[in-house]
Amino acid sequence: MNSGLGGRVCRNQPWLESTKWCANRRITLEEIEDGLNEDCSHFSVHNIVSETLGYRKVSARWVDKWLKEAAGEWYNTVITKLIHFAVVGGPESDFQVVPPRDQHHRANWENFRAYIDQNINRIQPLPSNYFRFVGLLMKAGRKFIPRGHRKEYIPGWDKDTEELYRRYKYSDNEETAEMLINQLNSSRKEKWMQTVSDLDLTHSSRKGWDLLRKLGNAEATNSVITNITPNQIARHLQTVSKVKIPKRKKKAMKARIKEEFSKSNYSSHLSSQVNITEIETAIKLTKKYKAAGNDEIPAEFLIELGKRAKSWLARFFTIIMETGNIPKEWRQSKILAVLKPGKEPTCSANFRPIALLCTTHKLLERIILARLTPILDPEIPVEQAGFRGNRSCCDRVASLTSFIENGFQLGMKSAVVLLDLSSAYDTVWIDGLIYKLAKVLKCKQTLNLLSSLLSPRKFTVYLNSKSSKEYTIYNGLPQGSVLSPLLYNWYTHDIPQTTSKKFIYADDTAILAQAKTFEELEIQLNKDLETLHNYFENWSLRLNPAKSVHCCFHLNNHRAERKLKLFINNSQITHSEHPKYLGIHLDRTLTFKTHLTKLKGKLSSRNNILHKLAGSSWGSDANTLRTSALALIFSTAEYCAPVWEGSCHTKLIDTQLNSTLRIITGVCQPTRIDWLPVLAHISPPELRRKEATKKMYQKLLDSPDLEINPILQSPPKHRLKSRNPIWSRGNQLLSQNFKISEAWTNSWISSDIPNKNLITSPSVKIPGFSLPRREWVLLNRFRTGQGRCAELMKLWGYTKDPNCACNVPQSMSHILDDCPLYKFNGGISNLHSVTPEALNWLKALPLRL
Ligand SMILES: [Zn+2]
Repeated sequence: MNSGLGGRVCRNQPWLESTKWCANRRITLEEIEDGLNEDCSHFSVHNIVSETLGYRKVSARWVDKWLKEAAGEWYNTVITKLIHFAVVGGPESDFQVVPPRDQHHRANWENFRAYIDQNINRIQPLPSNYFRFVGLLMKAGRKFIPRGHRKEYIPGWDKDTEELYRRYKYSDNEETAEMLINQLNSSRKEKWMQTVSDLDLTHSSRKGWDLLRKLGNAEATNSVITNITPNQIARHLQTVSKVKIPKRKKKAMKARIKEEFSKSNYSSHLSSQVNITEIETAIKLTKKYKAAGNDEIPAEFLIELGKRAKSWLARFFTIIMETGNIPKEWRQSKILAVLKPGKEPTCSANFRPIALLCTTHKLLERIILARLTPILDPEIPVEQAGFRGNRSCCDRVASLTSFIENGFQLGMKSAVVLLDLSSAYDTVWIDGLIYKLAKVLKCKQTLNLLSSLLSPRKFTVYLNSKSSKEYTIYNGLPQGSVLSPLLYNWYTHDIPQTTSKKFIYADDTAILAQAKTFEELEIQLNKDLETLHNYFENWSLRLNPAKSVHCCFHLNNHRAERKLKLFINNSQITHSEHPKYLGIHLDRTLTFKTHLTKLKGKLSSRNNILHKLAGSSWGSDANTLRTSALALIFSTAEYCAPVWEGSCHTKLIDTQLNSTLRIITGVCQPTRIDWLPVLAHISPPELRRKEATKKMYQKLLDSPDLEINPILQSPPKHRLKSRNPIWSRGNQLLSQNFKISEAWTNSWISSDIPNKNLITSPSVKIPGFSLPRREWVLLNRFRTGQGRCAELMKLWGYTKDPNCACNVPQSMSHILDDCPLYKFNGGISNLHSVTPEALNWLKALPLRL
């Protein structure tokens, strides 16, 4: 037997046996042994585990990973991992096994910066020297950032935890272990908070779940089991972006481009020297923790660059701007294939390609974007709201629905066609785009650079750690490029005038017609569809009749079944009762019942995430829960709220949001609803929506260019009393000068709830947010007077005896104020302000309420 090993293990024994983690294991030692047998014929893992550590079972998820890695120096691994497991593991917080990666938090950035600054000027800033720049950064990275130091990735592991772990190893001190766990928990919490507030979780909760799994559990994100190969996906991408242009047309376009070029100047302020300020602004917009592109330079490296390196980059970019030559490395991109949510992995079209561009490439693109926007943006029609400052999805949906409401008031029928452009960005005809850019930019250098950035690009698809061959794409806007949205908006800025109104967000296009009869609607829409079809076809964008839908909006219930006969290129467009425009399900009379019902389901699954977080050792404090709830649940619940705020089905959402607030505050189900927002320090959902409506309405009123503006300025006579359009809601809020905190205070004052006088102003954060979960929950249950005391438990039908151990009915206030056994001398007001005595009393209270 290996004596060194035995000694190390034995030292851990007393502490390990005394911990709670010894329980709750889900796999037997025999199973581990079976898995290990091939590699450990001379030694039994049972001996290590059961005799020295006292383990009976360990987490199955964890062991699976561990067994695979246990080959080779298996015994060392086993022991180290068992210790790790005991130290950082727990019922819901195992550590994760991932491939080695840079540990940026342990890096010595100062030395990294100094080293690069010292050496950077040896490299001439030329596109052909890009590989040397990459080489220098990587070398500095290797020198000052420990890489692959440990095989296991433990979220939040840093210098301090390392030191604690070292101390624990030599002392077996339970207190050190406790400190270590607390430290890890606080790092996990920090990382969760940061990531959750960075992410846009409005549409998909998958990211939320992934994150939670990553931080909380050993389970790595499952790779998709599929027969589809990376090559198939790559070929699919290549096919999609094949733009078929007749030869004659191609030739004509070349001639037009040439002509525009001849009218352009050689250079302009667009291609002038790049300065440090531009570099710094672009770096500020760079996000951390993103996967690196082909050159493997992570965003963190650029963020940490020193002064000399930044000025080197400025010179490097200037030369690229002037010559239009870009490093050849930038022409190759790495594409990750990710299965689209809810799709089967049986078809290559069901995978979403995520392109990872080089971070330096992105930096230059940001600089170009900042220079192009002031020229291009003012010329983009007002109908287009995608990726433009001060515009949003919500203003599109609000305008569309306001037009429909206006139609209701005027007794007009409205019809909307939601157009589907198949892979719009991928089918952009590059020569056509360059021509359209040349007409306005008038700068040869800039045009050359853009052609060079958009010229044929090579890509490799990665799926489940397999990769495809290298493929080439000739058309389409680059995936993952920050310039693509602006270029797409520019490519379609000359969309023709139509009688129908257009509502566009990026490539999401809706057209709306209004008339007294269905027949008139058909004539008008068919004519406009033809115009648009011809325009899109001319520019090689493909309207897909099979995926486009239409819907009629009117209040005539007798004609509810009437569908329109609409065509795109002779194919009929289907009718949909609940078409989805920019994430909002519309319906014939704009009740939003379908939308709110679906939203309710989504919120309920988000509440499950929050619930899980509340039960974890690291995510259960009130501040973390509150931030997560706002990012994960409230943002989703309030998406486009001004549009549906007037619906009579908003209760569906409020019940879910009340559950959210209950999870944060830990109060019981029967607690009065007025208490929830006060305790959670989140304004009441209804008032938050009113606030959003007021803001949106004000914004629409203040934008005279918007097509909806004239209607809002002089709305139609309020003929239909049952309708509640945005202009009447908005006007009312503006005229009463709605302020959320005032409205909240007024409703609080007029309510009649127990212990109301504890709160003078409901919008002020109450004490106790940083308490441990148990004390926080207990405190709130005393505040609200609702807890699992005997009297209420009898009332709710759980027990028969309403009496306290002191033989009088046990209410929450009895325990707090009167009970000879438990009472707190400070009373409810001291408890509410969490005085030190109150905290001690809460901690010592032997009841489970
Ligand atoms: Zn009592």
